[in-house]
Amino acid sequence: MRIDVLTLFPEMFAGVLGSSILKRAAEVKLDDAGQVVRQPVVAYHVHNIRDFTTDRHQKVDRPPYGGGPGMVIQCQPVWDAVKRVQEQEPHRPAHRILMSPQGRRLDQKLLAELAGEDRLLILAGHYEGFDQRVLDRLEPITEISVGDYVLTGGELPAMVLIDGVVRLLPGALGDDESPLHESFSEALGGLLDYPHYTRPAVWDGRAVPDVLLGGHHAQIEAWRRAESVHRTRNRRPDLLNEPEGPDGASRKHS
Ligand code: SAM
Repeated sequence: MRIDVLTLFPEMFAGVLGSSILKRAAEVKLDDAGQVVRQPVVAYHVHNIRDFTTDRHQKVDRPPYGGGPGMVIQCQPVWDAVKRVQEQEPHRPAHRILMSPQGRRLDQKLLAELAGEDRLLILAGHYEGFDQRVLDRLEPITEISVGDYVLTGGELPAMVLIDGVVRLLPGALGDDESPLHESFSEALGGLLDYPHYTRPAVWDGRAVPDVLLGGHHAQIEAWRRAESVHRTRNRRPDLLNEPEGPDGASRKHS
């Protein structure tokens, strides 16, 4: 997958894309003998919108028509940036995304859809956002929100989206880091994850549940499933899809 980001603050991405799993996913993996065992599963290209302005003072934002607070990012640098970045690999048309509090709410289902794309081009706004005319001109463009709150810019939302997508790409995670058995995954029926424990078996007087120490796989699976349902009912009953009882309470999960 290729991911292009258009932003006024490219430096914000260095730490996140250059660390941990996101970094590894963009690197060639070699074995001890120096042989390539895995090609990168993603390539990141972070572009500064300001580099595309034709303004001789490099200005990209202006006050809004009609008055009011804040600044609006102008059409020209954004349109030219998208065109030129797309042309860097013209045979890989990008799925265009605008990070926006007004967009479709990001969830695991949307991440899985995006992980199936070959190329994403993400626009991260700042200030009051972009001039509406360039957004109209960029249709089709998917507006995506990370939640019903407003941040100063689209950079953090873009990084959230990239993290969520990249970890779903085949080969991005190590063998022991499968994304298949986690909250919202199909393997867990869309429910929340069960609790996890590691050594020691007793810490601070608190013991690991016996069933996890017994080595009986069917019992462990049943326990985990029950914990997953229990947690989901307590914390996110909306995920259970249970028909509601007459008093509005959810019925017991079978
Ligand atoms: N005027 C906009 C509004 O009220 O809908 C908010 C602009 S916000 C201050 C600046 C930029 O931050 C937006 O263009 C968007 O890229 C990003 N942003 C802020 N909150 C966001 C959210 N919840 N999800 C995704 N992007 C967000």
